[in-house]
Amino acid sequence: MSQTTTASTPANGTSARAVGAHAPDGPLGPLEIQRRAVGPKDVPIDIRFCGICHSDIHFARGEWGGIPYPAVPGHEITGVVAEVGAEVTTFATGDRVGVGCMVNSCRECENCEAGNEQYCLAGNTQTYGSKDRDGTVTYGGYSDHVVVDEDFVLRIPDGLELDAAAPLLCAGITTYSPLRHWNAGPGKRVAVVGLGGLGHMAVKIAHALGAEVTVLSQSLRKREDGLKLGASAYHATSDEDTFTELAGRFDLIINTVSARIDIGRFLSLLRTDGALVNVGAPPEPLPVPVFALIPQRRTFAGSAIGGIRETQEMLDFCAEHGIAADIEVISAGQVNEAWERVLASDVRYRFVIDNATL
Ligand code: NAP
Ligand code: ZN
Ligand code: ZN
Repeated sequence: MSQTTTASTPANGTSARAVGAHAPDGPLGPLEIQRRAVGPKDVPIDIRFCGICHSDIHFARGEWGGIPYPAVPGHEITGVVAEVGAEVTTFATGDRVGVGCMVNSCRECENCEAGNEQYCLAGNTQTYGSKDRDGTVTYGGYSDHVVVDEDFVLRIPDGLELDAAAPLLCAGITTYSPLRHWNAGPGKRVAVVGLGGLGHMAVKIAHALGAEVTVLSQSLRKREDGLKLGASAYHATSDEDTFTELAGRFDLIINTVSARIDIGRFLSLLRTDGALVNVGAPPEPLPVPVFALIPQRRTFAGSAIGGIRETQEMLDFCAEHGIAADIEVISAGQVNEAWERVLASDVRYRFVIDNATL
C-alpha cells in the first residue's frame, strides 16, 4: 500500500484520502478521491470509523457484476459533522452521526413515501458504486470524509461508541428490519444461519426483542460466543443430526450466509407458516425446492437493509438495550488482511477501520 493513485475528479469538490480497489482481483491500495462541493442540504462528515461488510468484498471484486474502478467500498460509516450546508436543519457541527448503505433516493415513489427508501422504485443511490446526483460515481467510507444529504444521515445516540456503532449502519439494520417485519419477539423461535457480521447482530437483536434464538453455524467453533451473544442453542450444520433434530422448529430463519447453501434443507426446519428470510447475497442463484414450501405453507423471502426512519429506530433500540457490534479495530493498512479473514469466516465479529490511520 505505498503508491497513491488519483481517481478522475469533478471540479469544486474537496479531495479525500481513501483506500480502494483498482481491479477485481488485486489488493486494495491508497487512493485520492474527490468529494462533491457542499450543497445547501449537505452534511460533510469527518469519518472516524468504517465497518467492513462482506458486501464490500462482493462489490469490489465484481462478483455482483461489472463495476467502474477505482472503487472505494464502505457503508458502515460513523463520524462527526464537520460543517453544515446553508439549509441544513437537523444537524450541527460536532454532532455524532452515521451513514449506511444509501445516500439518496427519488423521494417520490410509493416506497420512498412510506419510508422504505431502500426499495425506491427508481433505485436508491448506494453509498458506493452508484451514480450520484452530480453524475459522478459514489465512493464509500474507506476514506477520510464524505458529503451526504442530511436526509440520509443518522444520529448516533449517546451511549453508543462510534467504533462499535459503525456496523449497526448495515449489519444492524439488515437484521433488525426482517426481525421486526416478521415479528420476532416473545414466544417466537428464531434461527440465525451464519455467525459473522450480520449473524452476530441478528442474534443480539432477536434476543433483545425477546425471541428464543438458535445459531446454525458450519461448526461448533464459535458456540461459546453464540451463547454469550444471546442464543440459547447452537448447532453445527455439518452435523446431519441437526436437520432431523430441528425439523419443523422455527417461526423465522434469517440466512446471513455469503455463499450458496442448500436452502431446501433449511426450509425443512420451519414450522407451518414459518419464513426463511435471505439477507445473504451470494452471486449464485439459490434454488428452492417447492415441495419444501407447499406442504407447510412456508415462505422464502429476501430483505434489504431498512429505511432511514427504521435505521434511526434501530440505533435508538440498540442504545436503549446496550447493544453494539463486537469489533476488531484495524488500521487502514490492514484492510487486505481483514478481507482474507472475512472470506475465511474468521471474523469476531466485525472488522472496523480506524479512519484516522488513512
Ligand atoms: P460475514 O461476516 O462473512 O458472515 C457470513 C457468515 O456466513 C460467515 O461468518 C460464516 O458463518 C457463514 N459462511 C460463510 N461461508 C459459508 C459457506 N460456504 N457455507 C456456509 N456458511 C458460510 O458476512 P456479512 O458481512 O455478515 O454478510 C453476509 C452476507 O450478507 C453477504 O453476502 C453480504 O453481501 C450480505 N448482505 C446483505 C445485505 C442486505 O441488505 N440483504 C446487507 C449486508 C450484507 P459460520 O462460520 O458461523 O458458519
Ligand atoms: Zn453491508
Ligand atoms: Zn423512490
